[in-house]
Amino acid sequence: MLTALRSEARYAGLWALPLPVELGGGGLPFRAYAELAEAEGASDHGPAALGSAPLLDVTMLARHGGPGVREAYLKPLVAGDIRTCYAMTEPDVPGTDPFRTGTRAERLPDGSWVVTGRKWFTSGAAGADLVTVMARTSGADGDRDGLSLLLVPTASAGFRVVRELPVLGAVGQYEIAFDRVRVPADHLLGEPGDAPAIAGERLQLGRTLRCLRWLGQAQRAFDLMCARAAGHSGSRGPLADQQLIQSHVFDALLALRTTRPLVHEAVALIDSGQDARTEVGLAKVAAARMLQQVTDSAIQVHGAAGLGPDTPLPALFRTGRAARILDGPDELHITSVARRVLREYGRTSVPPSCPDAPRG
Ligand SMILES: Cc1cc2nc3c(=O)[nH]c(=O)nc-3n(C[C@H](O)[C@H](O)[C@H](O)COP(=O)(O)OP(=O)(O)OC[C@H]3O[C@@H](n4cnc5c(N)ncnc54)[C@H](O)[C@@H]3O)c2cc1C
Repeated sequence: MLTALRSEARYAGLWALPLPVELGGGGLPFRAYAELAEAEGASDHGPAALGSAPLLDVTMLARHGGPGVREAYLKPLVAGDIRTCYAMTEPDVPGTDPFRTGTRAERLPDGSWVVTGRKWFTSGAAGADLVTVMARTSGADGDRDGLSLLLVPTASAGFRVVRELPVLGAVGQYEIAFDRVRVPADHLLGEPGDAPAIAGERLQLGRTLRCLRWLGQAQRAFDLMCARAAGHSGSRGPLADQQLIQSHVFDALLALRTTRPLVHEAVALIDSGQDARTEVGLAKVAAARMLQQVTDSAIQVHGAAGLGPDTPLPALFRTGRAARILDGPDELHITSVARRVLREYGRTSVPPSCPDAPRG
């Protein structure tokens, strides 16, 4: 099914629209693509079907990969011939504190690396050809320096998928292990110690893309809710005439309409290369809450049908629930944004160097 959709997308000239032309993409600037990303993301399969799914990895590798990495992987990624995944979160340390990353990479005399550790909730790891892994290359547990990103081919000896981790019944997340995996010297991204900066940059873009897609998914749930309310009657007449149903519609519309401008504010700042940390934090929390709220209302208006297999609402609700944890839980963004704002009001006890913890 996905293969057929991808062929259609290529034929229609819709393949990989936000990716660079010289790599085989459509070359659409981020701000223009943002206008489409909401519609494309209304289905979880949209970005994969239309070839825009590798945007984050292509951006990261184009900026921080060496010539060998760029030559070997960028075009196959854009063509959809290879897939990647991104592994930061670990089973034994809080994901909200990457400085405690336990995975280690040791440099050999020939410049290559040996990676040992375990990651979990790595999306798409089972079908991936490459995994970007965060590992400590120097320093001790908790140090703010010494974290690096390495690109590991999953065919390497010592790499293994340990198990699948269903999330509220849905597949796609995995626990993975690195048992002395040898990685070529040129598969380090940037310089040793660059992980916080590269991951931070990746996450700004990644969170904003997710927000756009969550808007699309919430709009889809909203449309289903309104169609159900307009087309069904209860014992007291049409659902659309019931004030408590109207209240669901109003609150959901308000959540959608107040979140959309926040997301596009973040898009505009990222597009112009400005500091978007506050705006991305606001948008991420608002969009995740909004998706959870709108999908919950849509299910309520459908009754049991909303929990059954005949609508996409259970999957949309699951995305909304996971949204409040993945890419950093709400609490992390709330405290990061509030601290940054309070600093501007002279709360000097908050260290100015306190970075947002980069999250996967
Ligand atoms: C569907 C899904 C897909 C994912 N995909 C990936 C992926 O591809 N790659 C990857 O690396 N990771 C991925 N993750 C992991 C995700 O990024 C982490 O789960 C998330 O960052 C939180 O880390 P943690 O689970 O270790 O929670 P912890 O750090 O253990 O935090 C647990 C809870 O503690 C509280 N808390 C934490 N920090 C604070 C704070 N500062 N203030 C107040 N309370 C706080 C919050 O309630 C938080 O939810 C995925 C997760 C999910 C659910």
